[in-house]
Amino acid sequence: MSPYPEREPRSPLATLDDDALRRFHADAAARHAAFADRRLSLDMTRGKPSPEQLDLCNALLELPGSGQGAWQAADGADCRNYFGDLRGLPEARALFTGMVGAPVEQILIGDNSSLALMHDAIVHALLHGVPGGAAPWRHAASIGFLCPSPGYDRHFAICEGYGIRMIPVPLTGRGPDMAVVERLAAADAGIKGMWCVPQYSNPTGETYADEVVERLAAMPTAAADFRLFWDNAYAVHHLDGAPARLANVLEACRRHGHADRALVFASTSKITFAGAGLAVFASSPDNMAWFMRHMARRSIGPDKLNQLRHVRLLRDADGIAALMQAHRRILAPKFRRVGEIFTALLGGYGVASWNAPQGGYFISLDVADGAAARTVALAGQAGIALVPAGRTFPYGRDPHDRNIRIAPSFPPLDQVALAAEGVALSLLLAASDLLLRRRGLAGGTS
Ligand code: PLP
Repeated sequence: MSPYPEREPRSPLATLDDDALRRFHADAAARHAAFADRRLSLDMTRGKPSPEQLDLCNALLELPGSGQGAWQAADGADCRNYFGDLRGLPEARALFTGMVGAPVEQILIGDNSSLALMHDAIVHALLHGVPGGAAPWRHAASIGFLCPSPGYDRHFAICEGYGIRMIPVPLTGRGPDMAVVERLAAADAGIKGMWCVPQYSNPTGETYADEVVERLAAMPTAAADFRLFWDNAYAVHHLDGAPARLANVLEACRRHGHADRALVFASTSKITFAGAGLAVFASSPDNMAWFMRHMARRSIGPDKLNQLRHVRLLRDADGIAALMQAHRRILAPKFRRVGEIFTALLGGYGVASWNAPQGGYFISLDVADGAAARTVALAGQAGIALVPAGRTFPYGRDPHDRNIRIAPSFPPLDQVALAAEGVALSLLLAASDLLLRRRGLAGGTS
C-alpha cells in the first residue's frame, strides 16, 4: 500500500471553491507541521556523489603504488617529476577522446576542476582576447553572455564576478530556444559567449538536439570572437538504459567554418572523486595553442600522478562505461523514488511539474508561479535544505519564482524519499497559501 494516501479532491487547486481551498490549506498546514515535528535534517542542496558512489573508486587511493616503476607513464616518463607537455599524459588524454569528440592532440588535462578551466578561459579572453578576435574582450563597451536558464549557478557566478552581462535564454526541452539565440547573437557584438551544458543539462536534464548543435555551430554572430562554453559535465552520466546522444560540436563548428567557436570542457568529478579527479579541455588547434600559451605562465604542468592513477583505474572508454553503470545502479533508484513521491503527493493538483531525467544529477521542479521561494523556505522549516530559489537563474533572479533544483544524489535512499515528501508537503502548503492570498481570503499561514 502506498504510504501516501490519496487526498481528495484530486483536481487542480485553482478550480476549488473558496471553502474547499481553505480546507485543503488547513490540511496541508497540518501535514507540514507534523513533518516538521520529526525534526529531520536532510540536505538536497548540491549535486554531490554519495559516499557509496565514492567507494566505487577507492582503488585510486592505492594507485599508482610504490613498487619499482609504478610511477612511470607509458613512455617511461617519471610522473613524480616535472613533465614536458602541458597537456598531460597522452594515455590519460586518450581516455576522453570519445567524451569530448576530439583527437588526443586537441585534448588537455588540467588539474582537478573543469570549472577552473572555464574560469581561466574567460579570464584569458578578457585580458588577452581569443584567436580571431581583434582585441581583448575587456575592451568591448559591454560584454554579454547568453545564459540558457535555468542553468548552472557557478557559471553565472563567474559572469557576475567579472561584470559580464548575462542574458537569459529560455530552454525548450531540446536545448536553448535557437530563434532567440540566433537573433541576439547576430545583433549584439558585445555578446561574446554562451554557456551550454549540452547533455543532461543542469538542472533541466535536457540534451541539445542535433538541430540545435548544428544551428549553434552555423549561426552568424556579430562578434567575430564569439565562443560556446560547452560544459559537457554529464557526458557519460546516464540514468536509464537509453543514453542520450549528443552531436559533436567541434566537428559541426569546423564544418560550418567556425573551427574556433567551441571550447569543450568535462571532468571526472562525478566519475571518480569529486574535486580530486581530472578536468578536461578540448578545442581547435588554435584555441589549444592559445590556452596553453596563457596556462604556461600559471603552471609548470598538471598533476601527472593523478592522471596515471586514473589511467590505471579506468583503462579506457569501456572501463569508464562500466564504472558509470555502477554509479547508475546507485543513483537511478533515488531519482525514481523522487518521481514516485512527487506523483503520489502532487499529481493532479496543477501546482507543479518536474522532469524524469535520462541522466545527470538533478531533477528540475517547476512550481506554481510565485511559490518557489516560499516552498524552499517551508522546506527549510521542515528540516530540508534546498538550494535557494532563483539560484538557477542569472543574478539569482527567477523571473517567475518558479524553479527549484532537486539534488537527490547524496543522501541515502530512505532520506531522499523523506526529503521528497517534505518538499512536496511544503509545496502544497505554499501553493494553497498563495491561492488563498490571491483570492483575498484570510487563512494563509505564511
Ligand atoms: N559543470 C556543471 C554543469 C556542473 O554541474 C558541475 C558540478 O556540479 C561542474 C561543472 C563542476 O565540475 P568540476 O568539479 O570539474 O569543476
